[in-house]
Amino acid sequence: MYPKIILKPGKEESLRRFHPWVFSGAIARVEGGTLEEGDKAQVYSSQGDFLGVGHAQVGSISLRVLAFEPVSIDAGFYRRRIRQALELRRKMNLITPRNNTFRLIHGEGDSLPGLVVDIYGNTAVMQAHSPGMHLDRELIASALMEECAGWVENVYYKSENTLPFKAELDAQDGYLVGERGEERPVAVENGLQFYPDWEEGQKTGFFIDQRDNRALVERYAAQKRVLNMFCYTGGFSLYALRAGAREVVSVDSSEKAVALTRQNVALNFGKCAPHQAVACDAFDYLREHGKDFDLMILDPPAFAKHRNVLHQALQGYRKLNAIAFKNIAPGGILFTFSCSQAVSRQDFRLAVFSAAAQSGRNVRILHQLSQPADHPVNLYHPEGEYLKGLVLYVE
Ligand code: SAH
Repeated sequence: MYPKIILKPGKEESLRRFHPWVFSGAIARVEGGTLEEGDKAQVYSSQGDFLGVGHAQVGSISLRVLAFEPVSIDAGFYRRRIRQALELRRKMNLITPRNNTFRLIHGEGDSLPGLVVDIYGNTAVMQAHSPGMHLDRELIASALMEECAGWVENVYYKSENTLPFKAELDAQDGYLVGERGEERPVAVENGLQFYPDWEEGQKTGFFIDQRDNRALVERYAAQKRVLNMFCYTGGFSLYALRAGAREVVSVDSSEKAVALTRQNVALNFGKCAPHQAVACDAFDYLREHGKDFDLMILDPPAFAKHRNVLHQALQGYRKLNAIAFKNIAPGGILFTFSCSQAVSRQDFRLAVFSAAAQSGRNVRILHQLSQPADHPVNLYHPEGEYLKGLVLYVE
């Protein structure tokens, strides 16, 4: 079968608890061949017990386990995993005429480390985060087409910016199956329409992970003056408008994002919606125009991409939230988020706490938010938890 990675004595414990990563420091030797970027390999303990099979890679994580049983990683394997993921989404009741946008594969959370697949109606957008998934992309695309036969017609591969740079894989974004249609695609989330932009946009074209939290904004937004900071394609703004907000302002530093937000608002509410979109730095906007909003959403990009910039990131969250606490109207509701995996729930809460204390206002937590069910966290891989949010009542 595949080459064998033999671990040093005592280094098998985390794998026995189903944590799917093998770190380079745990490896004693490789038997039965050499390992190149993305090769498949088996892992054995120093006593010769089989532990798992997965994709090898050069770097501190040397192998991502795809299965803890001795199976081959082939078309049948990918089909089984995709089928299981799809069944789970069906159990979540996510695939309905009102919602054709969801994450089908969430890496370790769906026992496919290194792979993300997002669905927008009849298009699957696939993203590889490991060389092994990149090498298997055609196999995965075929498995997707077979398991989603009758409804997925296109598979777009978008991995130019997600693969390790040093692996020199020269990945190119493009359609593995199907092609760009004549008409601009429209996807539906909870009955709201939007233009996903998987070719040019950030991530896979839309931030699907805020679906449930956007629905919660809808519950609070009626009659409110709403400020949606870091709006990207305007997801939160659409829900606030549907709720009957008095006024919604969407802010993003990217002109492209602001243009997309305007288009998405027009698509759902026409040209006369009480909405304006502004291209501006969030900190500048909040300082100069942030007064008197009674519902604010702060959903910044990941301030900490790595643990070593954690301190700086926490300062960033503290600063941003401090301006919001200073400005939000009395009795205001603040939705505040962090999507940095390196920032723990506790760290984030502490940063928000410091910001609130600085303002001297009375603040209560109404909801503690996280990522939705289609971004499941494997209990044995807590690193998969990344999105956290607080809904605060600010007196
Ligand atoms: N809330 C969005 C996702 C936000 S992603 C949604 O629901 O889809 C983060 C966004 O922050 C990106 O669109 C990025 O362009 C924007 N951004 C990054 N730095 C910024 C800054 N300093 N000021 C304003 N926007 C910024």
